[in-house]
Amino acid sequence: MNATENRAIVIGGSLGGLFAGILLRSIGWQVDIYERSPHALDSRGGGIVLQPEIVEAFQRAGVVYEPPLGVVANERYYLQRDGRIAQRLPMRQTLTSWNLLYGHMRRHFPAAHYHPGKTLKAIQQQPEQVTALFTDGTSETADLLIGADGPNSTVRKQLLPSYQPRYAGYVAYRGLVDEAQLDSATAALLTERFVFYQLPNSHILQYVIPGADESLVPGQRRFNWVWYVNHDEQTQLPNILTDRTGQRRDYSVPPDLMAPAVEQAMQAYADQVLAPPFQKLVAATQAPFVQAILDLGVPQMAFDRVALVGDAAFIPRPHTAAGVSKGAANAIAIADALVAQDHDVANALHSWETDQLRLGMHLWKVGQELGERSQFQNY
Ligand SMILES: Cc1cc2nc3c(=O)[nH]c(=O)nc-3n(C[C@H](O)[C@H](O)[C@H](O)COP(=O)(O)OP(=O)(O)OC[C@H]3O[C@@H](n4cnc5c(N)ncnc54)[C@H](O)[C@@H]3O)c2cc1C
Repeated sequence: MNATENRAIVIGGSLGGLFAGILLRSIGWQVDIYERSPHALDSRGGGIVLQPEIVEAFQRAGVVYEPPLGVVANERYYLQRDGRIAQRLPMRQTLTSWNLLYGHMRRHFPAAHYHPGKTLKAIQQQPEQVTALFTDGTSETADLLIGADGPNSTVRKQLLPSYQPRYAGYVAYRGLVDEAQLDSATAALLTERFVFYQLPNSHILQYVIPGADESLVPGQRRFNWVWYVNHDEQTQLPNILTDRTGQRRDYSVPPDLMAPAVEQAMQAYADQVLAPPFQKLVAATQAPFVQAILDLGVPQMAFDRVALVGDAAFIPRPHTAAGVSKGAANAIAIADALVAQDHDVANALHSWETDQLRLGMHLWKVGQELGERSQFQNY
């Protein structure tokens, strides 16, 4: 079959959906991405470790970029309680941002085929096609449907209704601080390094990422921090996930919407327990945000003409720094499988699934081990 006759629907227009979109287009498929949010997804911009799969996906899809795709850190520092350096480790990593990856892929993917404000309601599979039904009453039919609709995936709920994310017992408070907003001594310690402070059953880390406008120019970038704090699911979590308008959110509260009391409690706790450079970093943060850490793993990712990818299938804990790169790996492998199977969707997804399940399970397990050790066995 001629690849250009093939059409894919991607549900979810975040990083996982965009990786699928650009990779499928690179092998000649027509692709349309349907994203629930009516706006550009620009408020999620935390830091991302640039793993090789992300670079490979960009290269294969012909995404134009100037290397490096992020800020290079050459070493890790572990601080002690008074802020002095307890340990230095040489380790070169490139740190990028959600915004930079999203921006590059949005510019590469044709705008006419990216459809914001479209919410999937259900899917229907026929032997030769798959149809997406949207909440606005419209529908679209294609040869392949990719469920890249994240932790609350509608695609997964229909195909695997008993598999839902489970709260891992802790949250990630996160924040971004412009380079110019931090005092020079603290900035000098934290710049172009991966810096950690470990405390009993908690840790905080930071690294420099591109600026909000994707700038890599020193002085125009941002410090990105993530602080893992345990909170009881029944007595504390509902309060933390209730935003400043009083709305209870599923798993995260975005920047500018954290309830003032929650933000103040976090700041006060930071002043009480963190090493001084991290206290300053947290205090300098204008709009912190918070995400519940989740566990999710599925036993199946291929369902005839439907594939589950990214966080819709497996949510590895962030200590693996591999959630985004797993979405890239899922998409690269689907493209390879389709080419290898002469674009026969059912055969391609069948052959694709085994390795992807193995990858998801592996990251899921490693992430759980790292998280349990640092949050619950580290007195
Ligand atoms: C604290 C923290 C730090 C992290 N750090 C890293 C890191 O350093 N490196 C890394 O690789 N990963 C990291 N991750 C993980 C990474 O953020 C996720 O794995 C990744 O963003 C998942 O992308 P996704 O596209 O699969 O899902 P999502 O980003 O959740 O996107 C799903 C999309 O689907 C849309 N959608 C949902 N339902 C529907 C519907 N019914 N119809 C249409 N659209 C719908 C949503 O609006 C959303 O845009 C981190 C995660 C956390 C919590």
